[in-house]
Amino acid sequence: MRKNKKSYFIIAVLFVLLVLVIFLGVNNNRRQLEKATKESLNDTALSTKKSTHQKKESISSSSTNRSVEASNLPDAHQSDWNLILVNKWNKRAELNPPLTLVGGKEVNSKIASDVAAFLEAAQKIDPAEHLISGYRSVTYQKQLYNNYVAQEMAGQGTVNRTGKAISEAQAVLNVNTYSMPPGMSEHNTGLAIDMSTIDSLNDSNPEVVAKIMAIAPNYGFVLHFQKGMSASTGVDYEDWHYRYVGVENAKYMMAHHLSLEEYVALLPK
Ligand SMILES: [Zn+2]
Repeated sequence: MRKNKKSYFIIAVLFVLLVLVIFLGVNNNRRQLEKATKESLNDTALSTKKSTHQKKESISSSSTNRSVEASNLPDAHQSDWNLILVNKWNKRAELNPPLTLVGGKEVNSKIASDVAAFLEAAQKIDPAEHLISGYRSVTYQKQLYNNYVAQEMAGQGTVNRTGKAISEAQAVLNVNTYSMPPGMSEHNTGLAIDMSTIDSLNDSNPEVVAKIMAIAPNYGFVLHFQKGMSASTGVDYEDWHYRYVGVENAKYMMAHHLSLEEYVALLPK
């Protein structure tokens, strides 16, 4: 009987302990749950705040789907010599840049060593890489442009290959898809080069183009007329036209997928 009493006592104590453990455990779980909920609410608030911030930034950019962190913009200005815009909205008189011969073509002397280094690096990717064009004077651009118009009118052009004559107005429209009128070509600055494995536009191996394009910013260059950028550049895709903008600017433009025109619009004057 005494032994029985003792066992009842032990069972009762164990039972109380068990209830205590369960109670503490549940309570602890509840506290953890409350804590987790609070944290996740905080996270949600934070991420909402973040996405609002990001939205604001992308609205300030000139095009959608391109988030631009304005705070990380390089310390550059629209008036910097290497960011000069020459395009169909920015016609320039002859700029007379100082010239140096690199790879058989004249380029602005300020970027001669960068062109040489970029060409050398490109040739390591494909030995056929060579310069097709560098600096072009406004006078030369005029001759080139007029020749193209004449070829289009005669049906021997790049767009009109029919052999049939067309009007001058139509010929000009055709030429404007692949050549800029005098004073509107970036080649007038001496800061642009055409570099490819082949002397024919957009006929280079796209894999090679992608590799060259990827290393270009290391030498201060960007492929200016990229796919999907013609609205801001005014020029259709060109696989060979590289523009010097400086290493820091080029890396920023590449990282944010901005054309030179879009990038310059973000900078102070
Ligand atoms: Zn070009």
